[in-house]
Amino acid sequence: MKYTPVQNFINGKFVDAFSSKKIDVISPLDGNLLSTVPLSDKKDLENAVKAAKAAFPSWSKTPIKERVQVFFRYKTLLEKNLKELAELCSEENGKTYNESVAEVEKSIELTEFATSLPQLVTGEILEVSKGVECRTEHVPLGVVASIVPFNFPNMVPNWTIPNAIALGNCMIMKPSEKVPLSCGRLAELLKEAGLPDGVLNIVHGDVELVEAICDNPDIEAVSFVGSTKVAKIVYQRATSNYKRALALGGAKNHLMVLPDAIPGMTAQNVAASMSGCAGQRCMAASAMIGVGNVDGIIDKICEEVRKIIPGENLGAVINKDSKDRIEGYITEAEKQGAKVLVDGRNTKVKGKENGTYVGPTVIDFVKPEMSVAKEEIFGPVISIMRTNTVDEALAIENANPYGNAASVFTQNGGMARYIIDHASAGMIGVNVGVPVPREPFSFGGWNESKFGVGDITGKSSIEFWTKLKKSTTKWNPESGINWMS
Ligand code: NAD
Repeated sequence: MKYTPVQNFINGKFVDAFSSKKIDVISPLDGNLLSTVPLSDKKDLENAVKAAKAAFPSWSKTPIKERVQVFFRYKTLLEKNLKELAELCSEENGKTYNESVAEVEKSIELTEFATSLPQLVTGEILEVSKGVECRTEHVPLGVVASIVPFNFPNMVPNWTIPNAIALGNCMIMKPSEKVPLSCGRLAELLKEAGLPDGVLNIVHGDVELVEAICDNPDIEAVSFVGSTKVAKIVYQRATSNYKRALALGGAKNHLMVLPDAIPGMTAQNVAASMSGCAGQRCMAASAMIGVGNVDGIIDKICEEVRKIIPGENLGAVINKDSKDRIEGYITEAEKQGAKVLVDGRNTKVKGKENGTYVGPTVIDFVKPEMSVAKEEIFGPVISIMRTNTVDEALAIENANPYGNAASVFTQNGGMARYIIDHASAGMIGVNVGVPVPREPFSFGGWNESKFGVGDITGKSSIEFWTKLKKSTTKWNPESGINWMS
């Protein structure tokens, strides 16, 4: 085992969980055992919440300009430790080293945004009547929780940690049990940056722990990122306990390719979007709709995809179950009459035979009713459908229950605007394969890709992590009694 067993991080210290239940942490790159992770129970959570509650009065009263100093130092530490953090991320998640570097760089950008929060949460004040002022202030909520998925072990925790904590909250973080190592390092760096004990607590576990988080009366808000199935469970359970909740779910992102698209650029973008992070991104292109004759562009896409080599510039998928599930989708589509143009099944990487790799896969002549066209595959697979018109393409995109992202490739500005207006997704790209909004813009989908109001990052996250205090004050006693008395 390469690393010591993972522990919870409570009140500034690494501690064992009460339960002796644990599971192995296996590297998808080569199947090697990295560590074990505890499956904590309600008692561990209660200790973490107790620590967070105790830290809250002092942390929330610390002026925001002082609070963000921790994040200036944290940002520097992320930069200083980038290589080590990227290696750890790659080992536990299976993505390539370069993808992991990009992930940590995004964490740095998220932290940079948090350091700008004092400029954005100034509140408002107005003299509403002679000598009478109305004023709003953003007030932290208290103890909040963040539950995260396996696909970005470093970045997704940083979607919530810097903003929620800089805004004055204390947090319980629940990492994915599949990739628990990166979060521990983030906690160490935050401690080194001067974050007081108890402000961030990490509790490891699975379903039982998530349920306990949703039920804990001292947790004010729950943010969740993961599959739609679990997002619905968490959103429903947390809100039925009267908590504020924001639950981001899965995705099926459509790229619409028009005949006037620039072939080389389009092919590169499509190939990068469907294969980046082995297709395990909620922003990955999973379905392409060719409008009219785009055969030449599809040939170029296949050319680009064939340059993607598992174990070199393509990482592994998270585990064997995932590999089997993805390959099952490809086989089913083939049986139903689709044509596999590039086949990533049965991929083995020399010297890493126990790694869980799926090669990049392009499936053409997919029909909208096939599973590969409708469901989230979460692997390096793109399913190509064809239509005669843009409206037919939009009808397919609109009919899908998800709504994270959609993109169009065209040189026609009017057509691009038409697709921005009519696609039913929260994040739209024009000639961009992965339309992730960068800070200060907010990240979040629509429909079954997100439950709750607001977005998880950027300016929109301020509303989620704070509540507004509205005060009305009168400073002219000489005016006597009036309608605001
Ligand atoms: P997941 O839903 O299986 O797990 C997410 C978290 O929920 C984990 O911490 C896990 O321990 C917990 N969990 C799992 N099953 C649970 C249950 N039955 N009850 C309560 N908690 C449970 O997701 P995953 O496989 O880790 O991540 C992949 C999914 O996340 C994909 O669907 C992907 O699209 C989605 N995702 C979405 C976004 C977004 O922004 N919308 C971002 C990243 C990932």
